[in-house]
Amino acid sequence: MSSGDSPFVVVVGSLNEDVVLQVDRPVRPGETIAAVHVERLPGGKGANQAAAAAAAGARVAMLGAVGDDSAGTRLIEDLRGRGVRTEAVRTVAGVSTGTAYITVTPDGENTIVLDPGANARVDAAAVQDAWPALPAAGVLLSLLEIPVGAVTAAVRLAASTGLRPVVTLAPAQPVPAELLAGLDPLLVNEHEAAFLLGTDTIRDHPRDAARELLRLGPASAVVTLGAAGAAVADGGGVRLLPAEPVDRVVDTTGAGDAFAGALAAALSRAADLDAAVAAGLRAGAAAVQRAGAR
Ligand code: ADP
Repeated sequence: MSSGDSPFVVVVGSLNEDVVLQVDRPVRPGETIAAVHVERLPGGKGANQAAAAAAAGARVAMLGAVGDDSAGTRLIEDLRGRGVRTEAVRTVAGVSTGTAYITVTPDGENTIVLDPGANARVDAAAVQDAWPALPAAGVLLSLLEIPVGAVTAAVRLAASTGLRPVVTLAPAQPVPAELLAGLDPLLVNEHEAAFLLGTDTIRDHPRDAARELLRLGPASAVVTLGAAGAAVADGGGVRLLPAEPVDRVVDTTGAGDAFAGALAAALSRAADLDAAVAAGLRAGAAAVQRAGAR
């Protein structure tokens, strides 16, 4: 099937403007310092995953919200420029667009303060209202930078309209059992997996962790393991798939989003789970060799 007639990936998630502030040293409490360089970049895990799915060749539609400001306009135009449909991205009057204020010091360490802005307005009712107007889709891709109720509603609607629900549990937070039970796969990194399993780390036993995640109800679970690749668990058992070799790691920001977008794109073309994870591993490896979240 060519991408021209494959079902859409619908992304229900966040859109943020990343304000990247290069500083020459960490800011101390009570202190004011001037940034050396400032950049405004399109971001938000939802929009990043939508961009990644489009880059992986999928047809993509985004459901989310921005404020009625210039940042919101820029984010929508950026997604459209990448071929992502944005009819279901609402512009909410009187609210600002979600913004991540990121400071980066010369050693590459960063801090992030997030203003969720319009993303907080993406609730269950907003998802229900927008759903009927979405294109016929094969895969739902969602994540937790919007209210949990919206993600739960999207998973419920996906189940009743025949979409395969994929959710990245990022950033880690408690979620209702109903949300997890619908997923195929539940997609987490090793920190999120440890959070869900109530343990400090899963580093020494990623296969067991992937298997244990199935007990929370999803039909399948994928745990990304950075340079160690990914663990996959489903009814067929547990597999550890190695990462793609990388010449030089430049920036690991956004590797997880690149993985998620590519995995969803592959699933929308009816790839089986292991083939979709392999596509995610290739996209993740490509992402760590480039600077920036996309
Ligand atoms: P997150 O960015 O969400 O913390 P990971 O660190 O697990 O997620 O990275 C996501 C994916 O990116 C990995 O599964 C892998 O495919 C790829 N990746 C990350 N780091 C490396 C690396 N050093 N070498 C090769 N691939 C990598």
